[in-house]
Amino acid sequence: MIATYSDLKNKVILVTGAGRGIGKAIGLALASQGAHVVFNYRGDEAKAAGLKEEFEKAGGKATGLKFDVTDYEAMTKAIDEFTKTVAPISGLVNNAGISKDTLLLRLKPDEINSIIDTNLKGCMLVTQALSRNFLRAENVSIVNMGSIVGLMGNASQAAYAASKAGIIGFSKSVAKELASRNVRCNVICPGFIQTEMTEALNEKAKEEYSKAIPLARFGTTDEVSNLTCFLLSQASSYMTGEVLKIDGGLYI
Ligand code: NDP
Repeated sequence: MIATYSDLKNKVILVTGAGRGIGKAIGLALASQGAHVVFNYRGDEAKAAGLKEEFEKAGGKATGLKFDVTDYEAMTKAIDEFTKTVAPISGLVNNAGISKDTLLLRLKPDEINSIIDTNLKGCMLVTQALSRNFLRAENVSIVNMGSIVGLMGNASQAAYAASKAGIIGFSKSVAKELASRNVRCNVICPGFIQTEMTEALNEKAKEEYSKAIPLARFGTTDEVSNLTCFLLSQASSYMTGEVLKIDGGLYI
């Protein structure tokens, strides 16, 4: 079930990492409500064209911008060009992320850098690149994808957990800094959601994790996209700086 919010129609929203998983479900849910979905891609032009077609078929407009969230120069250039020539962006979902499950002892410095650069710095830099544009846009809502692991910690995910915990401090600061301009910023902390990221877990681990979840199953990408749409819409107009868990009760 996808909840609909009338104010998302024609809203221009950038979703990073919308090529698959949670990001793609968010893009499709927004497009089906008539939003203009702006998505980033990292070079595969044919895949980007296919994604644009899928979003447009769902009912919205779609524009692909070519940048990697770790490449500040390409990102600012693509975003500036879009906001100056097409329309201001009034919604942002910082969803792009990577994980590497390894004990801290085995984690290589390069792996720490790429997790922090993608998950935390990527989120900070995309938000910063859009902050001037946000001052010109109306009813701006930023949704940052954290993780339950950023609240609880998890063995074998030290760098990932640190990156997601960092997103919470960053988001609360942005919420305070931009509230006077009616820019809101909230964090979603999913538990285990069925995507390629969790597909990588072995069956035994999936079974063990499911046992620890009161609702006894992994969540779906549509369940996360519903919450994202709510936070992007004016239905959540008095919420900012919030950290919302969507985890089947795992954190209880
Ligand atoms: P996926 O691995 O399925 O997809 C990740 C997306 O991020 C892909 O579209 C990928 O692009 C993009 N991406 C990765 N690195 C970069 C980069 N440097 N620049 C631009 N785009 C990039 O992940 P999920 O859908 O599972 O997760 C989405 C978000 O939700 C992540 O932030 C993740 O940490 C978070 N999350 C997920 C949970 C889960 O259980 N699945 C639980 C808690 C949080 P490309 O297609 O080009 O590789």
